[in-house]
Amino acid sequence: MKSTWQDKELMTTVKAVSLFSGGLDSQLAVCLIREQGIEVVAVNFQTPFFGGGVYIFEAARTLGIHLEVIDISEEYMEVLKNPRYGYGKNMNPCIDCHGFMLRQAGQFMEKIGAGFIITGEVLGQRPKSQTKSALGAVDKLSGYRGYIVRPLSARLLPPTIPEEKGWLDRNRLLDISGRSRTRQMELAQRYGLKDYPSPAGGCLLTTESISRRLRKLFELRPEAGAEDMHILKYGRHFYIGQDNLLVIGRKHEENEALTALARRDDYLLKVATHPGPLAVLRSMGQLTGDDIQAAAALVARYSDARDEKNALVRIWQPNRPGQKITVTPTPVAQTPSPV
Ligand code: SF4
Repeated sequence: MKSTWQDKELMTTVKAVSLFSGGLDSQLAVCLIREQGIEVVAVNFQTPFFGGGVYIFEAARTLGIHLEVIDISEEYMEVLKNPRYGYGKNMNPCIDCHGFMLRQAGQFMEKIGAGFIITGEVLGQRPKSQTKSALGAVDKLSGYRGYIVRPLSARLLPPTIPEEKGWLDRNRLLDISGRSRTRQMELAQRYGLKDYPSPAGGCLLTTESISRRLRKLFELRPEAGAEDMHILKYGRHFYIGQDNLLVIGRKHEENEALTALARRDDYLLKVATHPGPLAVLRSMGQLTGDDIQAAAALVARYSDARDEKNALVRIWQPNRPGQKITVTPTPVAQTPSPV
């Protein structure tokens, strides 16, 4: 860290960087710090699993703060694959994730010449990732220990450097802990905050279905990168043969998303004669003729041709003409369970 950044006492105005999710707690943290006359700049980190979204911009606009959304997808993969503190109930590596995001926020803080970071974390709100020791671990992982202020719980935590230096008055920070939302709701009224998403909502790593798909993908392709993650969010997933992923759209929007995600060497499949879903077949090993037949039969099973004796399925690769093959739709009773 450069001395110019640490020498904030020499500066006339101290700025804070808010690790901003757009949720109520992060909005309240901003309000509490601004009340002390400190300018707040918000930063939001985006990955295939969380971050971004229209509501974040709306929240920042309502608060009147500048917001930067930074894509950290690639760098995040290492955190996701090897979290030092493990996962939560699903594939959510919350302690490492927070530590990583705060490290990124710290770098952003240095870049814009801000003095400290604030978060909407509340002590004890989440059983594993927001205990006192977990918050300590997060600070250590971030590399910015002492410069991270949690305005909603600050009086229950050790004093931070901004408090010690007098940039912040500790007595005007709060002592909220636990899962109750009562005090946050009162504060929301006081600050006139009306629109905010539910706490912790929106992180796909906390969902069972995405986690299951992710585990399977990592098992087959430990080297999978951020660009492999998006397909996990759409359709029904099956593995054909050893390691060929078949994703069948469940609705029009998913068919469109899958079409957009298909790569040059993926196959697209669709029943030619009846309405039905679009599917992407992605090989992670060896794809045989039998695998293609099995995939086409499964695609036909989810189409209006499911009760026909035979179905004609079109199969092609992006920007190539393709061909049609005839298959017997997989009987409903023999349909494998999706991953
Ligand atoms: S819920 Fe998701 S975004 Fe939030 S800390 Fe956990 S892994 Fe990260």
